[in-house]
Amino acid sequence: MNGDDLAAFEAELGFDTLAIRAGYQRTHEAEHNEAIFPTSSYVYNSAAQAAARFSGDEPGNIYSRFTNPTVRTFENRLAALEGAESCVATSSGMAAIMSTCLGLLKTGDHIVSSRAIFGSTVVLFNNYMARFGVATTYVDLTDLSAWEAAIQDNSKILFLETPSNPLVEIADLKKLSELAHRYDCLLVVDNCLCTPALQKPLALGADVVIHSATKYLDGQGRAVGGAVLGSKELVGDEVYAVLRTTGPTMSPFNAWIFLKGLETLNLRMKAHCENTLQLAQWLDDHPAVDKVHYPGLEGHPGYALALQQQTAFGGLLSFELKNNTRENAWQVVDHTRLLSITANLGDVKTTITHPATTTHGRVPVEEREKSGISDGLLRIAVGLESIADIKNDLQRGLSSL
Ligand SMILES: *Cc1c(COP(=O)(O)O)cnc(C)c1O
Repeated sequence: MNGDDLAAFEAELGFDTLAIRAGYQRTHEAEHNEAIFPTSSYVYNSAAQAAARFSGDEPGNIYSRFTNPTVRTFENRLAALEGAESCVATSSGMAAIMSTCLGLLKTGDHIVSSRAIFGSTVVLFNNYMARFGVATTYVDLTDLSAWEAAIQDNSKILFLETPSNPLVEIADLKKLSELAHRYDCLLVVDNCLCTPALQKPLALGADVVIHSATKYLDGQGRAVGGAVLGSKELVGDEVYAVLRTTGPTMSPFNAWIFLKGLETLNLRMKAHCENTLQLAQWLDDHPAVDKVHYPGLEGHPGYALALQQQTAFGGLLSFELKNNTRENAWQVVDHTRLLSITANLGDVKTTITHPATTTHGRVPVEEREKSGISDGLLRIAVGLESIADIKNDLQRGLSSL
């Protein structure tokens, strides 16, 4: 009957339909838009029912640290989009990564991680996981033999982001998941930059997908949140149990914002990708620009792979200047009038960042240069403004050099 739970025929539905309708059960008020449930606890019909809920004999809401209908709707919907059995929403992207570590690792375990990951993730691994006896070895994202060489007997997790940020390198998810499984490890992929609209790591063999919902899932810079997705066993049981006990939970208000974000995810990602490809081609032809990093350009080493495992090339690019100094990069930034000078990404508003002195400012110079983040490198997270205005704004900076 119309209005019944869509789960019954979800398998037949397309991505855009799931993004708009999956995971929600209308209440007795017959509201059209999803309701928000701002409640910390729930009541029971009887003492026996309370006991049944607490023992787990009867499914249902207990307490919003681990059961909330709005949060559950977001989890169900994102799970449908990623093709995951289970999803656990968290208070931030970092809470998602921390909960995954707590749920899947123990003292003595080892992580093999791409070097090119979010800065706070490096701090989590080096300063906190290390303190509890979990060591991490870093490797180059695209060097498959380095990944294999870094795997030890106690390795449990292979961790990466693809595309990487800010150099937008592409990792081969199929090959890395085969490698992980050959050594009894789990492949954990931070899918923040692509979202399921562009890439579904679980279908390519990954075991766990992580999101910072703060970025494209919201898409309009309004709230901080995260999610972990994967099998019932790994995520529905292990990671959920961490969240239930330790409490880095998503608020129902934020879950509602992210739900609204998911409804337009595919549309926004298409528009981000179109604008970014146009900007990449324009920068590639610009006389003041030496090199553009964007997998949508045929000269990019990850072009063929991105074509294979992504539906489009993403909303992030970086570029180097002909005279590639910090002074020149800052001059370009300071001549813009429209672009936001901030390190955030995944917003309808275009942002410009100088990685060497912001996101990667605390990385030792030698290490930073080895990983390709030069003094003049600029990163653009391309938004949805008119592309002519984005180009004109950058032109102000580039023509000042
Ligand atoms: C922002 C970001 C995170 C952290 O997410 P928060 O929501 O800020 O905690 C993790 N991974 C990637 C790739 C990110 O861009």
